[in-house]
Amino acid sequence: MNEMLLLVEVKDGIVDKKSLELMRGASALSKELGVAACAVVAGSDTAKPAEISASFGLDKVYRLDHPLLGGFQPDAWVSALEWLCRQVKPGVFLMSHSFVGKEVGPRLACRLKTNLTTDCLSLSVDPGDGLLVRTKPIYGGNAIAAVKCEGVPQMATIRKNAFEPMEEVQSQSAIIAMVPEIGEGAIRVKSLRTVEQEVVELDKANVVISGGRGIEEKEDFGMLEALAAAMSKTHGNVMIGCSRPVVDKCWMSSDRQVGLTGTIIAPDAYIAVGISGAIQHLVGMIRSKKIVAINTDPGCNIFKIADYGVVGDYRDIVPALVQKLEEQQ
Ligand SMILES: Cc1cc2nc3c(=O)[nH]c(=O)nc-3n(C[C@H](O)[C@H](O)[C@H](O)COP(=O)(O)OP(=O)(O)OC[C@H]3O[C@@H](n4cnc5c(N)ncnc54)[C@H](O)[C@@H]3O)c2cc1C
Repeated sequence: MNEMLLLVEVKDGIVDKKSLELMRGASALSKELGVAACAVVAGSDTAKPAEISASFGLDKVYRLDHPLLGGFQPDAWVSALEWLCRQVKPGVFLMSHSFVGKEVGPRLACRLKTNLTTDCLSLSVDPGDGLLVRTKPIYGGNAIAAVKCEGVPQMATIRKNAFEPMEEVQSQSAIIAMVPEIGEGAIRVKSLRTVEQEVVELDKANVVISGGRGIEEKEDFGMLEALAAAMSKTHGNVMIGCSRPVVDKCWMSSDRQVGLTGTIIAPDAYIAVGISGAIQHLVGMIRSKKIVAINTDPGCNIFKIADYGVVGDYRDIVPALVQKLEEQQ
């Protein structure tokens, strides 16, 4: 099989965390397949992004430089990546299930007349036929499908937090600079400006404290905020999340929702308050390093996956926790 490509996203001199996770997954997979894992960076001046991407121990970095690739013009990016694929004929092409991956992946697969599996949770190799086995949630997250496709390159987009982020290494990968043969005609839709929006980035928190339908009054989220304030003195970035019913009641914005249709997170600690542990919620937080649940129902599902469970009313437990933390500080 030919080498594996992975699209690396670099913004303001920093490799996107999802790309670092992709590097980890691709690196393990390339060893299993016995092929090189090569990063691809695209833009109008990729010298710095390529140099940064070269410090994570991949085999090569392809640097696609072209004035039309400045900003993010999906049509131009698809044409440039198609051009690259026709040059290097990769066996596998992976992207993050990010805004960029979701825009570029399907169009590129269509141009290359191959298949794309989106939103994958894991990747492995079938030893029988050497095909990539991609797992992804189906039926609203109630089942996991294992998918194999014969088209080449084998393409997939990978969900964030599917792998641990890659760390920097001492050695630098070889950088191959290329100027793709693309023209203005490739661009049918132009991005005129980027609208910056303030969003809550739950996946950047060290600790997430989430409230669910068990929280009786909107004002009671103040108790969770008091706990977050007390914990942030020792645990860094502590943020408030929630389950879907809380968003449905318009008590919280949707960017705070954890779960299948919300954000998938893997913080150091996750505290679920008044949350039962429905599968659609669990898929969003099950990779948290430590899970604490506070619930009045000892039989609820969340206790089956919690490291620490407290059976009780949050109105008693949360203020007591805050008091204890404050006494210790
Ligand atoms: C396609 C699809 C996608 C979905 N996506 C998501 C998603 O992304 N995220 C998500 O969260 N859900 C999602 N859902 C909804 C999901 O199925 C559940 O309905 C939801 O997660 C339940 O939220 P909850 O645990 O807060 O509420 P409930 O299941 O009603 O649980 C409330 C819990 O609070 C406890 N409680 C009550 N009073 C107290 C008290 N005083 N103190 C302590 N505990 C108390 C109860 O014992 C109970 O366990 C989705 C559903 C579908 C069909």
